[in-house]
Amino acid sequence: AINGAPILDEDGEVSKVVFTLEDYTDRKIQHDELVAALAREQQLAEVKSSIISTISHEFRTPLTIMMTSLGILGMKYGSTVEEGFTNRIEGIEKQIKHLDEMLNDVTFINKSNSVGHTLKVNPVDLPSFFSQMSEEIHIAFPDRPPLVVTGNCQGFQVETDILMLQQIFMNLFSNAVKYSNGKEPAICEYACDGQNLSVSVSDCGIGIPEDSLETIFDVFQRADNVGNISGTGLGLAIVRRALDVLGGTISVESTEGEGSTFRVSIPVRCVEAV
Ligand code: ADP
Repeated sequence: AINGAPILDEDGEVSKVVFTLEDYTDRKIQHDELVAALAREQQLAEVKSSIISTISHEFRTPLTIMMTSLGILGMKYGSTVEEGFTNRIEGIEKQIKHLDEMLNDVTFINKSNSVGHTLKVNPVDLPSFFSQMSEEIHIAFPDRPPLVVTGNCQGFQVETDILMLQQIFMNLFSNAVKYSNGKEPAICEYACDGQNLSVSVSDCGIGIPEDSLETIFDVFQRADNVGNISGTGLGLAIVRRALDVLGGTISVESTEGEGSTFRVSIPVRCVEAV
């Protein structure tokens, strides 16, 4: 590139013109390399995403067949064969359900990575949403401390995508209960200020080691203090993706051995309730 600038004499007349000549070749090469790398990255992401969706799809059919066949076996022989048969059938069904849930989780993450989700914004009755969620958690973890929900919507009718809310709070609630120890209940507090829904989910559980706080939102990352508490390392990745879709944020404070608090803020459409 060539740039010119006039130099004026005492009378303000142009006496000289200075030209600078800059060689942008290196910068151009760098730019082109960057663009090519970006294109390769995108291509790779697309290939990865289509492999994941093909695998998920291919897994689902055999899983459904296994589930149906087990149901038939259970019905046909359950009462006639040796003791323990039904237990085994139920054990296998449980494992199949677990695989199916994992496939759902991976599919959700994969989908939000690639084509994205289309938001379906509808009025959500938050008090009944949260109490239903906590009831479901209690059914899923009957031996764990309960999750107590408090809060109110300050007279607002909230509108958002309920499926995304379910993804977020099902995972945060089940973690709070799953990683609790002792009998202290986990606590969820929510509030709405007319623009944002703010929710905190706290537990007095095993806590998260400081060096894991950065990574727990990444797929398949689990802290090393989880012991034999089962999990896949997908829940918080799903929470983060769902929040990305809603334009929300999440933060975590935790002390190992004492407990954790996750704070979520979600922009929502609010209408004054009549
Ligand atoms: P997982 O299926 O392992 O629970 P998540 O993605 O939901 O997967 O969480 C990732 C990791 O973050 C967990 O394995 C655990 O180490 C940590 N974690 C998440 N929530 C809590 C919590 N409430 N208390 C303690 N550790 C937690």
